[in-house]
Amino acid sequence: MNPPSLSRLVAEAEGQGVGLGRLMLEREAAESGLDVERVRRRMAEMLEVMAQSVAEGLSGRARSESGLVGGDARRVEEARRAGRAVDDLVAAAAARAMAVSEVNAAMGRIVAAPTAGAAGILPGVLLALEEVRGVARHRTVEAMFGAAGVGDVIAARASLSGAEGGCQAETGSAAAMAAAAAVEVLGGTPAQAAQAVAFALQNLLGLVCDPIGGLVEVPCLGRNAGGAAAALLAAQLGLAGVVHPVPVDEIIDAMGAVGRAMPASLRETGWGGIALTPTGRAVAARLGLAPPPEAAQAGAEGEGEGDGADGGE
Ligand code: SF4
Repeated sequence: MNPPSLSRLVAEAEGQGVGLGRLMLEREAAESGLDVERVRRRMAEMLEVMAQSVAEGLSGRARSESGLVGGDARRVEEARRAGRAVDDLVAAAAARAMAVSEVNAAMGRIVAAPTAGAAGILPGVLLALEEVRGVARHRTVEAMFGAAGVGDVIAARASLSGAEGGCQAETGSAAAMAAAAAVEVLGGTPAQAAQAVAFALQNLLGLVCDPIGGLVEVPCLGRNAGGAAAALLAAQLGLAGVVHPVPVDEIIDAMGAVGRAMPASLRETGWGGIALTPTGRAVAARLGLAPPPEAAQAGAEGEGEGDGADGGE
């Protein structure tokens, strides 16, 4: 059986003259046996939970128990509102993505989209587009079905998990989903949405998963902000009609292959990257979290991290 294909979904949507969101909404209704309006309502409820997480994070109240994360989403939003934004839409999306990430770190209620670690990117981008560009809520809800369809294809062909494929699989996939949805709400075609997916994934290809102490806090907070910005940039390329010479399904497959080639130290063990910096190790020790194995620590001191820090793979 052929693996799911984003190119095929695009062809189907374009054949029917609908967006990816509408195509996936109708599929979901057909598969679940529920009527379209009920399925749409369920997605709208999910978006409402996302909006509540954003509000909670932007309030500055969400703080993680470790003390590593909390208050930065509010800081970015305040800078934006004070006119200190590099770009209003990017700042709004980053603040909202960080807000959800902070709520997740504080064990609050979030919607995994597609995972808890990367949960800020899709709501960050879509709720910023509502606020800054005035996108109507019903369009956001429909576009979320398209984003879910993109996530399904990536899950089947590659991975959505940091432990399996590094952060490229988590925040990269979330950025790809958000990029497709952003293209749709901004009036782009399904083919343009697929191009945005291709660029989002390509531009985050190889991104490692390296949480300090194994906590989904640092670098995850910044990665959610970065994923939101990457999604908007990819959407821009798609909307402009830039076409990647490599078909999107092949880029998804490449992401899966890169993930499989990554050493275990860079796949959510907390044994590599930012987690293995002297400060990362000190923070983990202060929090009483298990230190990386000695081989990984030796790698951090310049003794061949590529060989020594892969957890024995
Ligand atoms: S660094 Fe790892 S845990 Fe953090 S968001 Fe990325 S994949 Fe998730």
